[in-house]
Amino acid sequence: MKKGKKLYEGKAKIIYATNDKNLVIQYFKDDATAFNNQKKSTIEGKGVLNNRISEHILSNLSQIGIKNHLVKRLNMREQVIMLVEIIPIEFIVRNVATGSITKRLGIEDGTVLKEPLIEYCLKDDKLGDPLISEEHILAFDWSTKKEIEKVKKMILRINDFMIGMFRGVGIKLIDFKLEFGRLKIDGKDEVILADEISPDTCRLWDSITDKKLDKDRFRKNLGDLIPAYTEVAKRLGILHEQSNVSAVNVTKLSSIKRKQQ
Ligand code: UDP
Repeated sequence: MKKGKKLYEGKAKIIYATNDKNLVIQYFKDDATAFNNQKKSTIEGKGVLNNRISEHILSNLSQIGIKNHLVKRLNMREQVIMLVEIIPIEFIVRNVATGSITKRLGIEDGTVLKEPLIEYCLKDDKLGDPLISEEHILAFDWSTKKEIEKVKKMILRINDFMIGMFRGVGIKLIDFKLEFGRLKIDGKDEVILADEISPDTCRLWDSITDKKLDKDRFRKNLGDLIPAYTEVAKRLGILHEQSNVSAVNVTKLSSIKRKQQ
């Protein structure tokens, strides 16, 4: 497979064309942003960890029948994915109230929800990804009733699976963000899971101590983001001592390179 030109650069990832028109390469950057791009930084090694963690979760989801865009991981930072048309909605799934919802609705931080709550945000950085309702989605044709019904069913299965997967390794899945894309499979319109699932897009708290093992370490200046993401990867059984060492080496190598520049 040949890597072609850059098609799109987002906040945390870059998409490159390939010689197959249906496939693209997704490159995980080390850049971190928060609060609608107002806070920015580069955290060496984050992309490597997110690539591995997202690969692990998406391939496990495939095994339970959740179709998604992942074809295969290529290397430390890149994966081959199917080219889809992204539905312009961020689907937020909440099991425990924290973050924006607590401020917006005056809910006590850490309130356990009776049932998973799905919220919709319009994917538009200029507007700050505003919260929207299902009626808005249909009124402005951002998606269809049929797509939303399919997506909601997938979301509940994904949530159930991920709660169990993380619970098994001593982590509480507090909330997360999903994106879905459209594509044709054998001439049939399908909606599949896209983007990434990683500590950048989930809130993950240690089951016993409530220690934050996710991007809130960056948002709230808690520090030690890489050790937290590494901890998630280790508990999921992705990073063994050997590959952990190579992740650290990549970090060291890239900082040596930067110093030489
Ligand atoms: N999230 C995300 N990308 C976004 C917005 C939210 O991955 O652009 C994730 C976030 O990491 C958290 C969940 O979605 O796991 C809910 O985020 P919330 O709406 O509370 O946003 P925040 O408090 O970060 O503004």
